[in-house]
Amino acid sequence: MVKKMTKKEIKQLSEKLLARPKLVWDRLSAQERRDCFTMAESYKDFLSKAKTERQAVAEIITMANEKGFKNIDLCSEGKRFYKVAQNKTIALAVLGEKPPQQGLALIASHIDCPRLDLKQNPLYEEVELAMFKTHYYGGIKKYQWVTRPLAIHGRIIKGDGQAIDIRLGEDIYDPVFVVCDLLPHLARKVQADKKMSEAIPGEKLNILAGGIPFEDEDTKERFKLELLRVLNERYGLVEEDLISAELEVVPAGPAKDVGWDRSFVGAYGQDDRACAFHSLQAILEMDTPTRTVMAHFADKEEIGSAGATGADSLFLENFTAELIQITSPRTPHLDVLRCLSRSRALSADVNAGLDPDYQEVHEKRNAARIGYGICLSKFGGSGGKYDSSDADVDYLGWLRLMFNKHDVAWQAGELGKVDEGGGGTVAKHMAKYGMDIIDCGPPLLSMHSPFEIAHKGDLYMTYRAFKTFFSSDWD
Ligand code: MN
Ligand code: MN
Repeated sequence: MVKKMTKKEIKQLSEKLLARPKLVWDRLSAQERRDCFTMAESYKDFLSKAKTERQAVAEIITMANEKGFKNIDLCSEGKRFYKVAQNKTIALAVLGEKPPQQGLALIASHIDCPRLDLKQNPLYEEVELAMFKTHYYGGIKKYQWVTRPLAIHGRIIKGDGQAIDIRLGEDIYDPVFVVCDLLPHLARKVQADKKMSEAIPGEKLNILAGGIPFEDEDTKERFKLELLRVLNERYGLVEEDLISAELEVVPAGPAKDVGWDRSFVGAYGQDDRACAFHSLQAILEMDTPTRTVMAHFADKEEIGSAGATGADSLFLENFTAELIQITSPRTPHLDVLRCLSRSRALSADVNAGLDPDYQEVHEKRNAARIGYGICLSKFGGSGGKYDSSDADVDYLGWLRLMFNKHDVAWQAGELGKVDEGGGGTVAKHMAKYGMDIIDCGPPLLSMHSPFEIAHKGDLYMTYRAFKTFFSSDWD
């Protein structure tokens, strides 16, 4: 006869067998909770300064220089290096005890974000208002970009080759910009009866730029001319200069705490500066790791990772080759490829947190939960894992072991219900070398919106996960 289990035995068995996710907050000591809030302050500062990929690179260089990193194109002495391409992508590395040929511990995040870019011929005048044409960059919901204060950031190359950096709309005394929207009284046919995706067409995302006419009443297009006059007076610009320009229109204003209890960070650009900042923190603190560690901050992820600064370029391979040349000169390129194939990587990117108001798009058993730590996604893609690099299970098993050993609160999750939608990351562009790689990052609410939300507990665990990863080794 089978002996009936006591209540205590059943409880013990359940504890042994059942997976029990635990909130980050319940796992943290009082000191760790304070650290969580302290770290969020530096993170918000970074988000407020680095609104574009170019500004993110500049910030990363400043912070890297302070921690003794050297530009590998200028210096081959030491153990801490970085490499930059076109001021829009950067990678940092710390040489480890083992030679880099044995494989890197790599964290790849991205520093480009959805936004509105000015077109190359942006300026025009319509019904006596000066306006800028835009072409949106990455996946946006267009209605989120109207009637909100916007800032313009970017670089203009003048006719004589001089570069002008623009940052307008962030200082409390700066003017801001705006895409106007139709009043509800007149919106019934042109907007309200349409599908949301069609209610605001891309060609109507135009920026209100000026409203004062040029002095002379007989001049044509007085508003356009006056705006050019102002730009000329302030920056020495002529209209043609706007063609050789990268001007990015982004939400104006700093990152903020959100909630009575300040539990969240709200800001533009947390996809993917949540991962960029915390992998930066982790690598800056590395002294002499066992493995050579690398943090890569890619551009162009939001538009498919193509281009010289995207993750599909040879930037990472070139940097790796240069690192290997420093430790063992005249190493054949085959060793660079071997190094990359022996590497282990985190494709560090944010995930979609279970949204209380739209739970129907998630599959709750496999959705990332806000407050439960960093989320590991074995696969991404959409419609049958299409286009996903689908991480290897041996690697996932190793990572789970490392995270559990070092008290990292982590969860498994996928972006949404099967057949609901989906998205890509940089993972497949690294996976092609044969390295182990998995998508990994904190969950956000309102991802890709002008004001994305992250839980401070999840951000703290993202940092801890990255630190753990960089400190780990394998055979
Ligand atoms: Mn992303
Ligand atoms: Mn994204």
